[in-house]
Amino acid sequence: MSRISLMVFAALSLVALSAAPAAAQQAQPAAKPAMAETAAMTVQPIAPFLYLVKGGSGANTAFYVARQFVIAVDAKMTTDGGRQMVSEIAKVTPNPIVFMILTHSDLDHVNGLAGFPRGMTIKSSEGTRREMEEAFKDEKMAALRAYLPTETFESSNVLNGELPDGKAFQVSLLHFGPAHTSGDTVVLFRDEKTAVIGDLAFTGRDPLVHRQKGGTSLGYIETLKKLISLPAETYLSGHADPMTKDDLRKLLASMEDKLAKVRELIGQGKTIDEIKAAMGVQTAAGSRWPSLVEVMYLDLTEKR
Ligand SMILES: [Zn+2]
Repeated sequence: MSRISLMVFAALSLVALSAAPAAAQQAQPAAKPAMAETAAMTVQPIAPFLYLVKGGSGANTAFYVARQFVIAVDAKMTTDGGRQMVSEIAKVTPNPIVFMILTHSDLDHVNGLAGFPRGMTIKSSEGTRREMEEAFKDEKMAALRAYLPTETFESSNVLNGELPDGKAFQVSLLHFGPAHTSGDTVVLFRDEKTAVIGDLAFTGRDPLVHRQKGGTSLGYIETLKKLISLPAETYLSGHADPMTKDDLRKLLASMEDKLAKVRELIGQGKTIDEIKAAMGVQTAAGSRWPSLVEVMYLDLTEKR
C-alpha cells in the first residue's frame, strides 16, 4: 500500500539524513513492511488544543486537550503504538485520557487500544462496535476485549466541556451512514473548524471501501458530500496530510466520474473484466483489496 511505501520512504530518508557510512546497507532491511512500526511518531499542532499524531504504527490519530482531560481520536495499530501515543500526549499535557473516540473499526485505527489506560469512555457508532466485537472474537485479540466501545450512538453525539483557556468547547460525533465501513464516524471540532474523518478520504490513491464490513462506494460518495457541507476548513484523514474542502471536492468529482463510467459500461452489458480493462484498472498480484471500480460494479449490480 502506498501508505506503507510512504512510511518506508520516510524511514529511509531518516536513515539517509543520519549520513552514516553504513546507511546503504541499513536501507536494505528497511524495505520490509515492519519498518512502518518504527517510523518516527510526530505530533503536529493543528489548533491551540488540537493535535495530529502521525507515524508510529497504524493510521494518523489526533488528540484534544480540554481543561481537565484529553479526548483521543483513534489508537494506532499495536499495543506499542498505543503506548507511544500515550507518551506523546503526556509530553503535551499531564491531563488523563478520559475519552477515546473511534472513527471506525479497522485494525490500524483500533488495535493500539491495548496500549492505552483502562477505564476510558470509548465512543463509537453502533456499527463500529459490532465490527470490533466480531474482530475481537479471535483469541489473538483477547487483550482488546477490555477496550470495546462503552458508549455507542446511531447518527450523532456531542461532547461538551471547557478548554484550558476557560472557553467552552463542543465536539460533534457524526455518522452519515455506511461508507468506508458500516460505522464511520466524523469527529467535528467546531471551534477549530476541523474534522477528523478517519478513512473517509484518501489522497494519491482511490478510497478503500470495505464491503465485507458493510461499506459502500455509493455511501462513500454521499458521505463526502456531507463532509464538504460541514462547517470545517481542515480535514484530518487517517492516511494523508491535512486536507481542505477543495481536496474533498476533487475527490468527490473523481469518484462521481468513475461511478458514472462504471454505470454506463454496465448499461452496455460489459462484464467486470471488460469494465476493468476499459478503465485501465490493474489489480496487482496479491493485492489485499479489490479496486474501487470492482467495488462500484458490485455495489451497482448486486442485490443486497
Ligand atoms: Zn480504514
